[in-house]
Amino acid sequence: MPSPDPRAHTTLGSAAPVEAAEPFGAPPVGAAAIELRAVTRVYRDRPALGPIDLTIPAGEFLTVVGPSGCGKSTLLSLVAGFAPPTAGSVLAEGSPVTGPGPSRGVVFQQPRLFPWLSVSGNIAFGLKRWPKTSRAERVAELLAMTGLENAARLKPYELSGGMRQRAAIARALAPRPKVLLMDEPFGALDAFTRERMQEEIRDLWRSTGVTVLFITHDVTEATTLGTRVLALAGPPGRITLDAPVSGDLREKVEAAIRTAASARADTTA
Ligand code: ADP
Repeated sequence: MPSPDPRAHTTLGSAAPVEAAEPFGAPPVGAAAIELRAVTRVYRDRPALGPIDLTIPAGEFLTVVGPSGCGKSTLLSLVAGFAPPTAGSVLAEGSPVTGPGPSRGVVFQQPRLFPWLSVSGNIAFGLKRWPKTSRAERVAELLAMTGLENAARLKPYELSGGMRQRAAIARALAPRPKVLLMDEPFGALDAFTRERMQEEIRDLWRSTGVTVLFITHDVTEATTLGTRVLALAGPPGRITLDAPVSGDLREKVEAAIRTAASARADTTA
């Protein structure tokens, strides 16, 4: 039976700010956290994405919104290094992305925790090469930051949905990534937990300074959570709007999606 959430009245951001991450060496001066240059992705002769040009400055909280199938997850998987682009290049801090790496943490809609490991074990998973003492310190820090101190020894099946997703976020943040890639991370949560997690991820972003790329198909989530929003239409996925977050943004994003949808309907009629 799931245990009650021990951190019902706390937020991730209430923990002390963590120090800036610098384990990967200083980036080239002026390098963007992530850069896509004329990137396309084709699956078995079917274009799924691009061409896309995109620069994500360090420290930005970028949300990407669009209907199902428009190429959002493809974009994220190219940045994560799960798949190579068919053409063009993906750069992280000025260096080509050639595969997944500890500088880019990923959180999926389903937490994908290792069921045989405790919450602590899951968080420590990516820290195998760390000295034992610093690993234990880092796990304790993440448990505090995500309000999971009382759940450290619990297994994933003993957690609520929100706690599982917190554990997944803690695991992704453990190696101090520069970029946090989130693919509809709150899509499977109930409305109440989802709202709370949205607040918490903003607090976490503020306190860590991590660059966030957040995928969603929820316009409200996209226009309230981040500092900049991309509307994507496709396939193949193309950027139809790239705007800083502002008051009337929701209407603009919805209009961009509607226009792209009716243009598609016209060409396929
Ligand atoms: P979204 O995340 O916006 O729902 P995806 O990036 O998952 O969109 O998919 C974009 C397009 O690429 C879709 O038409 C989808 O069917 C196709 N696609 C995604 N992954 C694969 C794959 N591994 N093999 C073949 N086609 C794929």
